[in-house]
Amino acid sequence: MISVEEAQTKILSQIVRMPAEWLFLGASLGRTLSSDIVSSINLPPWNTSAMDGYAVVGADTEGASQNTPVHLTVVEEVQAGQMPNKKVGRGEAAKIMTGAPVPDGADAVVKIEEAKCSGKEVTLFDQVEVGAFIRKKGEAAASGERILKQGISIRPFEISMIASLGISQVSVYQKPRVAILATGNELADLHEERSLCQIYNSNSYGLAAQVVDAGGIPMLLGIARDNKADLAEKIARGRYADFIVISGGVSMGDYDFVKEVIEELGVKMIFWKVAMKPGRPLAFGTLFGKPLFGLPGNPVSSLVTFEQFVRPALLFAAGRDRLYRPVVSAVLEDTVKKHRGLRTFLRGIVSTREGKFFVRMTGDQDSGILLSMVKANAFIILPEETEQVSAGTEVSVQLLSDIGLC
Ligand code: AMP
Ligand code: MG
Repeated sequence: MISVEEAQTKILSQIVRMPAEWLFLGASLGRTLSSDIVSSINLPPWNTSAMDGYAVVGADTEGASQNTPVHLTVVEEVQAGQMPNKKVGRGEAAKIMTGAPVPDGADAVVKIEEAKCSGKEVTLFDQVEVGAFIRKKGEAAASGERILKQGISIRPFEISMIASLGISQVSVYQKPRVAILATGNELADLHEERSLCQIYNSNSYGLAAQVVDAGGIPMLLGIARDNKADLAEKIARGRYADFIVISGGVSMGDYDFVKEVIEELGVKMIFWKVAMKPGRPLAFGTLFGKPLFGLPGNPVSSLVTFEQFVRPALLFAAGRDRLYRPVVSAVLEDTVKKHRGLRTFLRGIVSTREGKFFVRMTGDQDSGILLSMVKANAFIILPEETEQVSAGTEVSVQLLSDIGLC
């Protein structure tokens, strides 16, 4: 059995980045840039007013005060979307709107609230600093400047930045396609009639949602029955995907044929079994040149092992640099017994009080109890060597979402 970290390292060593594709900027949310974004323009393109007010020559306002105001002649009005027609000379001003180009000669803007205008004359009561309320040409982005590095995830903020440069197409990593196969004679699919001895296939749907969440495209291959012929035929359909994920049939039972079948299909097996709970029987290898994961069938084990192993692999393929969810330290509120020798992932509810994280268990931790996962916003990660962790101990907690975090 190998450790969680060894398994993660071995997996990542087999993953390659997806090729790039061009996307319309508006469709690129959540994707990862595969090349740098370089500006071909200055932003703003000219010195711009940051306020509605008057563009002036700063030196004209020297010594201005309530008692000794300065009077300037307004030579024109510049609206946003217009270029100025006139220069501003000494003793002159131009009325200017936010976003309008500052006329030549002017080197400061006075806010409209701080000026008094009457006809063609504006009166100022304060000295202004040169540069006041002027956004300098190229200060937000300079022509030729590298604005975003490849590898960055595209959030609404990046989309706004890229659009401001006039760029409408971006090069991103393609989404990996992930074939998902459920296994088991006891499974009925959602559109099928369930016989008395069957349960519904839930893993395929949970895994498909996890794939979407990790930036991939799920391809559901249905259910393979617990016989070698059906398994071989359905697993082979995964050859057209970028990843293959099989759920169930990888442990020690008489009808757990997955390992045998993938070996017959020519898998290069990298490991089988990780020192963790839930999720010990976990197979990883490459088949048809694609990474293949054999995840344990218990519904919670399937979700937990996807989170720890498949998600980082998909994120890497999709171009991300940050592959793992944030881990913080939290005060454990329950006393927990565990197996020595296995890293244990418990489903937990993290809350914050007075700036500190606390975590409690979601209830029964059996790996068949999906509600233990539904209530969780974190995994409590307990180290291999311990058998019991007492309430009040600081433990590592992997945050899954901000739900309930208040
Ligand atoms: P296995 O790993 O095949 O031995 O399955 C372990 C447990 O998980 C059994 O109780 C199975 O019925 C259950 N299980 C396996 N696959 C699924 C699935 N796709 N949906 C729901 N439960 C499953
Ligand atoms: Mg099974």
